[in-house]
Amino acid sequence: MVAPVVVIGGGLAGAAAATRLARTGQAVTVIEREGGPHEKVCGEFLSVEACQDLTDLGLPPEHLGAVAIDRLRVLHGRHSVEAPLPFVARGLSRAILDEALLEAASQAGAEVLRGVRVTGLDGTRVLTSAGEHRAAHVMLATGKHDLRAMPRGAPATREGYVGFKMHWRLSPAALTALGSAIELVLFGQGYAGLQRVGAAEANLCLVVRRSHFADLGGTWEALLAHLLLEPGLASRLADAQPLLAKPLAIANLPYGHLYQPRSDNDAVWRLGDQAAMTASLSGDGMAVALRSATLAADLFARGASAAQFHRQLAAQVGPQVRRAMALQRMSERPLALRLGLRAARFWPALLTHGAQATRLPAYQTTKV
Ligand SMILES: Cc1cc2nc3c(=O)[nH]c(=O)nc-3n(C[C@H](O)[C@H](O)[C@H](O)COP(=O)(O)OP(=O)(O)OC[C@H]3O[C@@H](n4cnc5c(N)ncnc54)[C@H](O)[C@@H]3O)c2cc1C
Repeated sequence: MVAPVVVIGGGLAGAAAATRLARTGQAVTVIEREGGPHEKVCGEFLSVEACQDLTDLGLPPEHLGAVAIDRLRVLHGRHSVEAPLPFVARGLSRAILDEALLEAASQAGAEVLRGVRVTGLDGTRVLTSAGEHRAAHVMLATGKHDLRAMPRGAPATREGYVGFKMHWRLSPAALTALGSAIELVLFGQGYAGLQRVGAAEANLCLVVRRSHFADLGGTWEALLAHLLLEPGLASRLADAQPLLAKPLAIANLPYGHLYQPRSDNDAVWRLGDQAAMTASLSGDGMAVALRSATLAADLFARGASAAQFHRQLAAQVGPQVRRAMALQRMSERPLALRLGLRAARFWPALLTHGAQATRLPAYQTTKV
């Protein structure tokens, strides 16, 4: 039997696309390798655009227990600069968010297969750990993980990035000091973000150059000890209890990736990180993933091709990706970082402007 649309990967992009497609009456199957709720490496900062998209889907993040984040505090050594965000963002655990999205897809009528791993793709033949699906259309939404048959970018290098995440129960004093801010600790070879994701729970997510991680000894313990040399972070994590059995880690992050269709006959629709991966520093990766889902469902319903979708997506998200990547690179240049922070101490609104400048523009309906 041929399944009309098969979505590979039931993360943000895959589950959101399946929900939207199913609501238009389209038969759709989502294949997700994880059998139940699971955490992912992510800062869990839901930008205003991501919140809007989720609300449009009928999942306002505040109804899922998300907490408000409305300030940005940048820490570097003994220096700290703070300013209001130009919007209210939210902090929410990915285990809760992704599960709610898959549930929405199922309620909309999508067939959701859990605990099934896609092992290969041959045209529109989808090979899985539980047999084969023949699809009329395939949407690839496996996030940062490439299917072997569908590689995305350049191989890993020593200068690539590694990401980590750990949830903590903070002390009451640290929770109060953190407040409703996202704290960005810039340590030169990467950065860490700390923010609340629940009443007493905070997420520490960080990105570090692979070479720096190796030089520090190549273990989470060594990396954390190094990070705790930053006084701001050390005071927040004093007396904190780790809430995950071990930190989550992911290597070879293809930052800056923007998929360009190879030909007009491209058969596969790439969604989320498979289509575009913006700098995490901008906190807009989830918004990009959700945008790809909205645009894909919209264009699919209007009979567009995968290549048309990819071109329109690149036009909508490309400028954000380029600006965010420029900011991320700047945060790693010692002189630019020092000058930027000095300027922000005199004029904190610079942070607010920086946050505004890396937003995704409003959704545009385009001609097919
Ligand atoms: C360190 C870091 C920090 C970040 N912080 C933020 C932030 O604070 N705010 C923000 O907006 N964005 C952030 N992002 C970006 C954000 O996490 C991603 O852009 C977003 O998760 C992409 O969604 P996706 O649906 O493409 O992929 P994912 O959410 O990763 O979903 C992919 C899904 O596919 C499944 N899958 C993979 N392979 C297979 C297979 N073979 N078979 C079946 N299923 C499969 C996986 O299990 C997963 O559920 C961050 C990213 C990193 C790396």
